[in-house]
Amino acid sequence: MNDQQQTVFAPEDAQDYGKDPIAVRETDKYVSEYVRGFVEKWDELIDWQQRAESEGRFFIDVLKARGKHAVLDVAAGTGFHSVQLLKAGFNVSSSDGSAEMLAKAFDNGMRHGVVLKTIHADWRWLNKDIHGKFDAIICLGNSFTHLFDEADRRRALAEFYAALKHDGILIIDQRNYDGILDHGFSSKHKYYYCGDQVVAEPVHVDEGLARFEYRFPDGSSHNLNMFPLRKQYMRGLLEDAGFRKIKTYGDFQEESEEANPDFFVHVAEKN
Ligand code: SAM
Repeated sequence: MNDQQQTVFAPEDAQDYGKDPIAVRETDKYVSEYVRGFVEKWDELIDWQQRAESEGRFFIDVLKARGKHAVLDVAAGTGFHSVQLLKAGFNVSSSDGSAEMLAKAFDNGMRHGVVLKTIHADWRWLNKDIHGKFDAIICLGNSFTHLFDEADRRRALAEFYAALKHDGILIIDQRNYDGILDHGFSSKHKYYYCGDQVVAEPVHVDEGLARFEYRFPDGSSHNLNMFPLRKQYMRGLLEDAGFRKIKTYGDFQEESEEANPDFFVHVAEKN
């Protein structure tokens, strides 16, 4: 095990970006960004009920249409998709690189009457900790954006590819960063960040960084530093990783139906 691979637990108190927050552009930063105070508020931010309503059956339908049953949720976060899919009858394993997030996901599962199979695993060495092959991997909630180095992105996709069966699929989403970079931010707040008490908006954007601020009703605020993935670049990475068929949806619609979506969802198939 090298230094990078050691488990790092998030501190419980405040986030710390140092003197120059917009200089912080590192893949490893995600672990300490999800401090306990932020994790506790995360569900307030994403509001499970509204989120379930806005997503509808989209992911369930994509998986069922392709006959997929064994699903690995590699960005489990607080467990929203793992819980939804377990309740819908899928065989779900839930992993995340943040121990704080996994603990919260497990608790949320119990509150919803399901027991999550949780695995602490960073995508870059996923197959060290995850054994077995899956019909599908999901990486949702704008998670892949946490990878700042292209080498890390390629490595994570190679690990996802290897953890899939020969005809497996990867479902991965991202914010519409093209819109933010080219035209400025104008979220309809309809998808994902739909807790209506929480303001989520970028405080700095350039081609190498989108720094978002999340302001909560109690006056507290937290940040996330993310890499602004352009859509075509992301599709190219998926192609390079070996996925043969890639379909991109905008806000859960066929792309042509939604001109300026908040989010893209890519469904990438091995065969
Ligand atoms: N999927 C959840 C959702 O939609 O609510 C969580 C989304 S949250 C924005 C991103 C998640 O990705 C966090 O739980 C974070 O710990 C995880 N993550 C980020 N980079 C990771 C990495 N390199 N390996 C494993 N997990 C990672």
